[in-house]
Amino acid sequence: MPAPDDLTCRELVELVTDYLEGALSGRDRARFEAHLLDCDGCPLYLEQMRRTIRAVGALTEQGMPQAAKDDLLRRFGDWKRVRAGPPVPGR
Ligand SMILES: [Zn+2]
Repeated sequence: MPAPDDLTCRELVELVTDYLEGALSGRDRARFEAHLLDCDGCPLYLEQMRRTIRAVGALTEQGMPQAAKDDLLRRFGDWKRVRAGPPVPGR
């Protein structure tokens, strides 16, 4: 049962760039890491982000791995119902 202070997967995805840049506050960082321990999908997402950042050499808005994000969103099917918009074909 999630505590009120727990991060949701969606919040984690929003925070992941800040996390990797070391820009999170201590409290947010702790919540972020607590969620990683408690979630199957988000550690994979974080790993994909790390790999992507290594590949592009820098973290930019353009460098955001939208495909990885979409993949995660697909895994958490219930987000779809929250987030507006029809599914977009990958190519
Ligand atoms: Zn998660």
